[in-house]
Amino acid sequence: HDAKEHGVDIRRYVPLIQMKAKERLKLENDLRRALEREEFFLLYQPQVQLATKEIVGMEALLRWQHPKRGLVSPADFIPIAEESGLIVPIGEWVLRTACSQNKEWQKAGYRPICVSVNLSLRQFLQPNLAGKIGGFLQRIGLDPSYVDLEITESMTMDKEKAFEQLKRLKELGVYISIDDFGTGYSSLHYLKNMPIDRLKIDRSFVAEVMEDSNNAAIVSTITSMAHHLKLKVTAEGVENEDQLQFLRQQRCHEAQGYFFSKPIRAQEFERIFLKPTIYGMPS
Ligand code: C2E
Ligand code: MG
Ligand code: MG
Ligand code: MG
Repeated sequence: HDAKEHGVDIRRYVPLIQMKAKERLKLENDLRRALEREEFFLLYQPQVQLATKEIVGMEALLRWQHPKRGLVSPADFIPIAEESGLIVPIGEWVLRTACSQNKEWQKAGYRPICVSVNLSLRQFLQPNLAGKIGGFLQRIGLDPSYVDLEITESMTMDKEKAFEQLKRLKELGVYISIDDFGTGYSSLHYLKNMPIDRLKIDRSFVAEVMEDSNNAAIVSTITSMAHHLKLKVTAEGVENEDQLQFLRQQRCHEAQGYFFSKPIRAQEFERIFLKPTIYGMPS
């Protein structure tokens, strides 16, 4: 009955809580209109094969250009999109845009690379996800082997459902990666049985790999385990030469991070990473 009972007057916090809820609702409403207002765009970040130094892939990363707030980070709007269900149409837009871009670049004659797209939990759990993606890829004529879907360990909590969904996606022929690997729940049993292709080592381990021997041990263990399980392994968040050297020694397959490039616009990605390698053509 007494709000001040424990020495803290909770009434002091009520306006703050209300404001936060209001703010959030406003953001959700803006998010609801963002698709039709074409406020979203994608950035692409290269993925480099360490043995050959070739660009073998790119991750599509979503950005929201809000008319008043400016650029909103996915960390701030993806959770709202997820809870409100808006992530389903937004995620579909991401998939379509990233795959269409990849097809355009293939049509232009560039050496084909794979595009990685992040899936959210709601998107991943859609009953007809594989059918939808398959239909779309067929319409645009993109080979599913040039598409990589990134999921996280927590999305496979419901093992049976996740297994069925992954099986359907694998049958379609797309690539499956586990993003932020090492930060979530996953058992060795799960790794052995889930139809996946790749582990992406979370950047928190890569960031301190030279300073923290525990992180070095974790990166080394994940890489070695991936080799034994015949999975590809990609390091996220590589920012310097020393980290790269360490990853090479561990025989990590691929790396992604600011050392190679920040996520950039499609035109820039094309100019910097695709054009110089066009078949025998002067660029
Ligand atoms: P993620 O999938 O793990 O993506 C990698 C994040 O690390 C990106 O942040 C990228 O910009 C950042 N990054 C890459 N290299 C470096 C580096 O060397 N150093 C540092 N410090 N950071 C680096 P971003 O773009 O802000 O995205 C954050 C998260 O938002 C993503 O993490 C992903 O979980 C989510 N996200 C982004 N786009 C989408 C999307 O289209 N759909 C869904 N569902 N989630 C998305
Ligand atoms: Mg990712
Ligand atoms: Mg992620
Ligand atoms: Mg990640």
